[in-house]
Amino acid sequence: MGIKLRRAGIPFTILEKGDRVGGVWRDNTYPGAACDIPSHLYSFSFEPSHDWSRKYGTQPEIQSYLDHCAQKYGVTQHIRFGQEVKDAEFDATEGRWTVVLAGGEKVVSPFLVAATGQLSLPADPTFGGLDSFSGKVFHSARWDHDYDLRGKRVAVIGTGASAIQFVPQIAPRATRLHIFQRSAPYVLPKPDRPYSRLEKYLYRHFPAILAASRTRQYVYHEARVLPLTKGVGVKAVEKAWERYFHSQITDEHLRATLRPDYPIGCKRVLISNDWYPALNRSNVEVIPAGFGEVKTDSVMAVDRSERSVDAIIFGTGFSTTEFLAPMTITGVDGQELHDVWRQRGGAEAFKGVAMLGFPNMFVLYGPNTNLGHNSIVYMLESQADYVLEALRHAASHGAKWLDVRQEAHREFNDELQDRLKKTVWQAGCDSWYVTEAGKNTNNWPSFTFDYRRQTRFFDPVHYVTDAPSAAEPVLVGGTQS
Ligand code: NAP
Repeated sequence: MGIKLRRAGIPFTILEKGDRVGGVWRDNTYPGAACDIPSHLYSFSFEPSHDWSRKYGTQPEIQSYLDHCAQKYGVTQHIRFGQEVKDAEFDATEGRWTVVLAGGEKVVSPFLVAATGQLSLPADPTFGGLDSFSGKVFHSARWDHDYDLRGKRVAVIGTGASAIQFVPQIAPRATRLHIFQRSAPYVLPKPDRPYSRLEKYLYRHFPAILAASRTRQYVYHEARVLPLTKGVGVKAVEKAWERYFHSQITDEHLRATLRPDYPIGCKRVLISNDWYPALNRSNVEVIPAGFGEVKTDSVMAVDRSERSVDAIIFGTGFSTTEFLAPMTITGVDGQELHDVWRQRGGAEAFKGVAMLGFPNMFVLYGPNTNLGHNSIVYMLESQADYVLEALRHAASHGAKWLDVRQEAHREFNDELQDRLKKTVWQAGCDSWYVTEAGKNTNNWPSFTFDYRRQTRFFDPVHYVTDAPSAAEPVLVGGTQS
């Protein structure tokens, strides 16, 4: 968004809680942190990088790519680091947002774009007795690199995308690793490998080859939406998992423990080559039960099985359905965004970007724009272009504010939820996509090119403004897959 605003010559400031750019890639430095989307695809369309050492970028490589982009495109100088936003309130008379920072400073701007993501608030479960635990406790998103795991007995809570990456890394170091598995994930092999010198040479000197790799990966990943949303090809995916699972886990008891009890795809399908081998190790134990309570030097599962440990690592993920928490966002008529969302049974937005009653505010990676199948960067570029066109529209029509129309907001979300009902995500498992009440607030239930098509135009028909209505739709240009 910053790059696009800068290119468009629109003045802006970015308020960043952290001390550098990178978001989740800055925060998640746990051993083995890497992307599960190939880097030729998990990069900006306008900044393809030929420097990846391997197919799936690792956290340090992705962090340095993001640092590079911020520097190259002159965004860094627009960022105020170490600034946490507490509240934001819209003044309809003036048509502007007042943003209050943790230190009390107020920043005033006609437009507000929230880009805090869906995975920025670590979920720290509150277990009974945790305060009395005498050992080390940390969350995977706040890894304590000073704590030496060698010779330690460690409890890992959770078996999601983060845990399956760090467990194989720490298993050889710890004396004992007790993994508390509330529900087993489906894990498929990760087709990862280092790029050869020849490949790197070709990607560096022949941009068309790099572009072809990106396109090929885009098409392959796009097809993965079909089993998730239409049930197409599910049997083949199940068979592939079954074959891989049997080849990796030979012990019948362990197989029974690791066999998921929900349809494939209902939770995110994970990819790893070292998760199942790590679980075969003699110092690793999988306890097929949720985490229960903590004592001074031990942990107890809900089935009351107890293990003495020196450290507890939470791989428990993020508060994903509480978008924009813990900020307080106040729109027209004093309504607070989280109250509005609570009344509607969970977060929702028009095209995942604009919220009724919160004029001049946009959100990137907002409600229902997460993917189970393709690169989120593609979605983010669609959103940034859409927001840019909204700003251009407001400026060219002298509008002090624009707010999404109620009917447009409702129709979009009704249709979206109808589509979501037919997806595997609603097939009866708990996942971070779905609220406790069962509303999927996170996922986009279609192709990403469909989302690109829907956000390609900023159509003023969908908005109310204080300016006289006019204008044809504006074509949003600039990005390619
Ligand atoms: P997650 O997928 O939400 O996994 C959290 C795990 O903790 C689940 O296994 C969950 O069990 C478990 N858990 C939560 N509370 C628990 C409790 N009280 N007792 C026992 N277990 C508990 O979180 P994540 O692994 O951090 O991944 C989140 C998302 O981040 C991913 O889906 C992905 O989108 C992203 N991510 C991406 C990559 C990448 O490769 N690009 C890497 C890491 C993360 P249940 O399943 O039973 O709820």
